[in-house]
Amino acid sequence: MFATTIAGSLPKPGWLAETHKLWPRWKAEGEALQEAKADATLLWLKAQEDAGLDIVTDGEQSRQHFVHGFLEQVEGIDFAHKVEMGIRNDRYKAMVPQVVGPLRLKGRVHAAEARLARAHTKKKLKFTLPGPMTIVDTVADRFYGDRVKMAFAFAELLNQEALALQADGVDVIQFDEPAFNVYMRDAADWGVQALERAARDLACTTAVHICYGYGIQANNDWKKTLGEEWRQYAQVFPALAASSIDQVSLECFHSHVPADLMALLKGKDVLVGVIDVASDEVETPEQVAETIGRALQFVPREHLLACTNCGMAPMDREIAMKKLEALAKGAELARRKFA
Ligand code: ZN
Repeated sequence: MFATTIAGSLPKPGWLAETHKLWPRWKAEGEALQEAKADATLLWLKAQEDAGLDIVTDGEQSRQHFVHGFLEQVEGIDFAHKVEMGIRNDRYKAMVPQVVGPLRLKGRVHAAEARLARAHTKKKLKFTLPGPMTIVDTVADRFYGDRVKMAFAFAELLNQEALALQADGVDVIQFDEPAFNVYMRDAADWGVQALERAARDLACTTAVHICYGYGIQANNDWKKTLGEEWRQYAQVFPALAASSIDQVSLECFHSHVPADLMALLKGKDVLVGVIDVASDEVETPEQVAETIGRALQFVPREHLLACTNCGMAPMDREIAMKKLEALAKGAELARRKFA
């Protein structure tokens, strides 16, 4: 009951990359960088285990950014000539690579870190990939001329990598789709279908994470414009409830998402965000248990997992560590309280 996990990413140590950044520069190159990435992965595996989490991740220590980390292994993308693009409906500008030809995987994308993590933990291992719609929103298209077509092209590549990750021993494969909260109609029209294409034939647990973004200024400013009640989820949850995806990870604590929207996910596991990643204030176990209690009104206990609202990549390392502990302690308290 109330198994614990995180959305996916964790802060990179200062010796691996720049800290407190979404697109941090690496501190080493070549073999030294590979070694540093591996060390950071092991460090965070241990920290998640020590905190008492049930399902652990590699902390995304081997990728610079949750979308571009995947794109770097894709043929047909020009990384040498990045262009500035407004992303998430122009919420913020980013330098993005361009799609210039047919897309194909150059080889495995995440084999090294997935196998390393698998070899060093007996806990359930979750691995995250960007969702097709969010990729399409984080890259410039100079070839396909059609968002849907390009999304399905990416979905095929994601599926290849996901099947390989499953073979590496990964227990849960999660696709991150923050774009679902921005283009709600498209998400319901074709985003969920593209997601299912990415998850095709997977026998392991499949998940999708939909949030209001990392705790960066542009996102915090955007959230202020969304009004008292955030009802974006209402448009996409019915399509997800009808889909083949097993789990949905959503934002809850400190957000203005009405808790009753979780009832739209009938039959799915719901990963309730009980940890705020946009605040440095560490949650108390009581606060975490309280959020779980609120979600319990709309999610059956056997379907409720406790999670973070989003990734913690841009956060302070010490604070992230404390938040992992708060997550585990809060879920433990909830187990006693609601048993
Ligand atoms: Zn997120």
